[in-house]
Amino acid sequence: MKKPFAIAIHGGAGTILRSQMTEEMQQAVEQALDQAVSQGHQLLAAGASAVDAAVCAVKILEDSPHFNAGKGSVLTTKEMVEMDAAVMCGKGRQAGAVAGVRHIKNPVILARDVMQQSEHVMLMGEGAEEFAAQLGYDYTEQDYFFTDRRYEQLLALKAEGRVALSESRYPDDHKFGTVGAVALDQNGNLAAATSTGGITNKRYGRVGDSPIIGAGTYAENHNVAISATGMGEVFIRCCVASDIAARMRYLQEDIHTACTAVIQGDLKTLGGEGGVIAIDQFGEIHFGMNCEGMYRSCIDIHGRKQVKIYADDV
Ligand code: ASP
Repeated sequence: MKKPFAIAIHGGAGTILRSQMTEEMQQAVEQALDQAVSQGHQLLAAGASAVDAAVCAVKILEDSPHFNAGKGSVLTTKEMVEMDAAVMCGKGRQAGAVAGVRHIKNPVILARDVMQQSEHVMLMGEGAEEFAAQLGYDYTEQDYFFTDRRYEQLLALKAEGRVALSESRYPDDHKFGTVGAVALDQNGNLAAATSTGGITNKRYGRVGDSPIIGAGTYAENHNVAISATGMGEVFIRCCVASDIAARMRYLQEDIHTACTAVIQGDLKTLGGEGGVIAIDQFGEIHFGMNCEGMYRSCIDIHGRKQVKIYADDV
C-alpha cells in the first residue's frame, strides 16, 4: 500500500484586510503559494525526503518579492536585511539554522547545509557566511534583497519609533511575511523549514523565533512538524513549537487540540500575535492563527489542494 505523504506551507501571518487586497496582488501571492506547495508535493510524490520537499517550497517563497524572506525581506534599523532560517528533520531530530545572514540568497538552503554538513545546529552572522563561502555559495549583495516598499515601511516605523511584523498595521503593504513549510514523506519522516527577514525596524543583531528550534521551527518523527509566524519574541518565550509537540507527546492531544491550546491560550495571553502550520505523523494538517489572516496552502494525503488567506476562509 502506498504510504501517505502531504505538505503544508505558510507565507506569514498578520493583518490582511480584504478591503486593501487588490485582485492582482491576491493572484500573485496565490500563484507563488500554489507553485511552492505543488513543487514540494511533486518531490514527495517522487519519493523525496520531507526535508527536501519543505526546503524546496521555502526556497520558492524566498525567491518571490511578495514575502518577507530572501528577496523582499524587511529592513533593520541600519537599513539592511538580516535573515534567519531553520530546517529540522524529524528523523533523529537533526536540525540546522542560520541567524542574521546578510548576503545569502537562500538562507533555508544554508540552514539545511548547517544540518547536513557541519557538526553544529546554528551558525550566525559572519561565521555562517564564511561557512557558506567555504561551500561555494555566491556572495549576494544587499541590493538584491532590497525593495522600495520595505524601505518606506522602515521609514514609517522609524518615525514612530517602533517595530512591527512585516504587514501588521500596514495593510496597504501587500507584501507578506515570513515563510515556512512542513511535510510528511513516504517513509514516515516529518520535517519543518522556516525562513524570515524578521520584523521591520528590528535592532541589527536581533534574532527572532524562526531559527530557534522549538520556538518557530520543530519536527519530531511519530509526532508532529511545525513552522510558526508572528511576533518572534513571544513565540520564543512561549516555546510555541516545542509546547505543541510536548502536548501531543505527553497529553496525547491531537494536532488540532494541541495547536489551538497554544495559539489561542498561552501565546495569546502573553500578547503573541501570529499562527502556525503543523502536520502530524498521519499527514493530518492544522492551520492555526490568532490574527486576521495567514497566507497558507497545503496538499493533503488525498491530493487535495487548498490555498487560503483570511482566518475565516473555509
Ligand atoms: N516570526 C518572525 C520573527 O519574529 C516574523 C514573522 O513571522 O513575520 O522574526
